[in-house]
Amino acid sequence: MSEKTLNPFEICQSQIKDAVEALGLEPAVYEILKQPLRFFQVSIPVVMDDGSVRVFTGFRSQHNDAIGPTKGGLRFHPDVYPDEVRALSMWMTFKCAVLGLPFGGAKGAVICNPKELSERELERLSRGYIQEISQIVGPEKDIPAPDVYTNPQIMAWMVDEFSKYRDYNAFGLITGKPIILGGSAGRNEATGRGCVVVVAEAARRLGMDIKGARVVVQGFGNAGSVAGKLIHDLGAKVIAVNDSRGAAYSPQGLDPVAVLEHKQKTGSVKGFPGSEDISNEDLLQLDCEILIPAALENQLTAAIAPGVKAKIIGEAANGPTTPEADQILFEKGCVVIPDILASAGGVTVSYFEWVQNLMNYYWTEEEVNVKLEQMMKRSFNNIFDMHQAKKVPLRKAAYMVAVQRVAEAMKVRGWLNGCRQ
Ligand code: GLU
Repeated sequence: MSEKTLNPFEICQSQIKDAVEALGLEPAVYEILKQPLRFFQVSIPVVMDDGSVRVFTGFRSQHNDAIGPTKGGLRFHPDVYPDEVRALSMWMTFKCAVLGLPFGGAKGAVICNPKELSERELERLSRGYIQEISQIVGPEKDIPAPDVYTNPQIMAWMVDEFSKYRDYNAFGLITGKPIILGGSAGRNEATGRGCVVVVAEAARRLGMDIKGARVVVQGFGNAGSVAGKLIHDLGAKVIAVNDSRGAAYSPQGLDPVAVLEHKQKTGSVKGFPGSEDISNEDLLQLDCEILIPAALENQLTAAIAPGVKAKIIGEAANGPTTPEADQILFEKGCVVIPDILASAGGVTVSYFEWVQNLMNYYWTEEEVNVKLEQMMKRSFNNIFDMHQAKKVPLRKAAYMVAVQRVAEAMKVRGWLNGCRQ
């Protein structure tokens, strides 16, 4: 590992410190923001199908609620660890602030491999987790949502379980639910859609034609597959995609819908007819105009960045670029649309879902998509103007806008004078 640290928590702290210093804010802002306000760890006993009991470890990190109830997804992953959850919750605070959503940031996780659990085991684990954290979440407190390897079905089990404790249908507890349980039209596609909106907007501002532009998508899960499809619909050429098992590369271009069907059938994009399997490193360094990292953290490192050819990077994943790689990419003139902006489509439509739940009045998919597009474009152009005016990377501009908003809320609430309790 050539880089000093790849700990996402430390990376996030340095991003906050940079913004606080650039804005000339009082040190108390950094002192409060450099860690979550609350971090919970829970043990979840689950009866497995063979009758044995296995105890899983789960977390919920609530970073900051100065602007509103905390909000953020829930990840099921075998390698997830506390500092990662802390960082993910911090990024949620700034993601919500960049978009101007009335939320703070949170994130949850359970250490598990959902691919190795049966449907019933997954259900018992999901119900067990929400039971353990039921006191600290709620529609006006902390609102979970899907993230890596969680989905609307898992949200449905959780909202059902939580509703039992509250004795009413508390649909506002969680977002990313199935439509029949108060889910929002357009929520499933929102992260990928939001990413494509800002990438297309970046191309427009840079004078690049999106038609015919070559696109590489790293990670073909919920966000990546939708981003691939929508950018293909805009006339771009998706030349390579991958997942944890392999890649599909074709310089002539792939049909993202057919690739997704192949993945649904075989479990991977690898082996898609007419495509070539290449390594993750080679995929990130392919000759292309647009790169969409849509997998996990720390993918674009100092070792990879010098070989990256893309002109625009739209971070659909959380934390895919390390600080050293960021600097290298900035010096190469590559425009990196940071995660706290490019991946904010999901939480933006989560906000719409929560509003619809509180009103009990539901919008059409078209209404949702129009509102999402407006909010993403407005936030992108605000950040892009600042990036050009102040000659700072987009990430720094985004952090400056976000940290400024959170600091302002903390200031008027009196938190900077020690009055948080
Ligand atoms: N997990 C998504 C994210 O990282 C969505 C969070 C939400 O909708 O609350 O942005």
